[in-house]
Amino acid sequence: SPAPVTVVGLGDMGTALARAFLTAGHPVTVWNRSAAKADPLVAEGAVRAASPAAAVEASPLVVACVLDYPALREALGSAESRLDGRTLVNLTNGTPEEAQETGAWARGLGAAYIDGGIMAVPAMIGTPDAAVLYSGDASAFGRHEAALRVLGPASFLGPADGTAALNDIALLTGMYGLLGGFVHAAALIRSEGAADGSEGGSVTEFTENRLLPWLTAMTGILPALARQVDSGDFRTEGSGLAMQLRAYENFLSASRARGVRTDLIAPFHALMERALSAGAGPSDDVSALVDTLRDGRG
Ligand code: NDP
Repeated sequence: SPAPVTVVGLGDMGTALARAFLTAGHPVTVWNRSAAKADPLVAEGAVRAASPAAAVEASPLVVACVLDYPALREALGSAESRLDGRTLVNLTNGTPEEAQETGAWARGLGAAYIDGGIMAVPAMIGTPDAAVLYSGDASAFGRHEAALRVLGPASFLGPADGTAALNDIALLTGMYGLLGGFVHAAALIRSEGAADGSEGGSVTEFTENRLLPWLTAMTGILPALARQVDSGDFRTEGSGLAMQLRAYENFLSASRARGVRTDLIAPFHALMERALSAGAGPSDDVSALVDTLRDGRG
């Protein structure tokens, strides 16, 4: 029968996690700083713990999901003496460095530590769309994998505490690149036609008929760019940086002519210029910019 699980943190996400465990038949103990947030879950069969220590004591598997890592340490501070022998799965969003520090803290208390990143919104938890990334203690992951799969498809990325957080953040920065592109394109489509008489229009019509098919097609070039990054051979399969830089100047001037701020797109232009002046070839592709960005270390 399904093993007992404790959920610490009952915000929007923690509540969804606890509910998924309940739905799958796990005995669930919950704790939240504001106790009233446990009421609906208790009505659905969860047990309310009187303290974080009691919550940790109730189950071998403790899943925590609070606002940030300082909140996690505050929530579990009074439960430190009870973490020995438990597995702490921390699904709070944070940095790889925070994951490492928290892993060292948990291991120091005798707990097994798994850090996780949830690539889903609360409504998706418990469905096949809710991908969750994990890294850290591999044998603890193996012991609790069946329970964790209740939340959604689970990927174990390796033994380093920070790997899941790094992948989570890389996925989100990739997404914000896409969102930034959408925001700039929509601003251009909405802009008045300036002196040349070109007309903007419906962002909905533009997005459905042109932007979505275009971006969907363009995602197809990412694997080739990725191979260039990994091999260090950035030679393009058709679109050299020198050509791209010249076209990009038109994106900036057309935007300025329409009163559209270039905040989102100007940095990419500056990075292309920097790459070319730092030795990237005119026939290299944008994959060469990865090394230029990484020069920012330290
Ligand atoms: P909410 O703002 O809904 O909930 C925040 C939770 O953190 C509450 O349980 C709150 O307790 C608790 N908390 C905050 N500060 C403290 C503290 N000092 N001590 C103890 N508990 C504290 O956030 P979500 O549930 O949406 O998000 C939780 C985590 O999940 C975040 O790290 C978020 O980035 C991540 N996440 C969220 C997604 C989403 O779409 N919602 C998607 C993917 C990840 P109280 O009720 O007492 O205020």
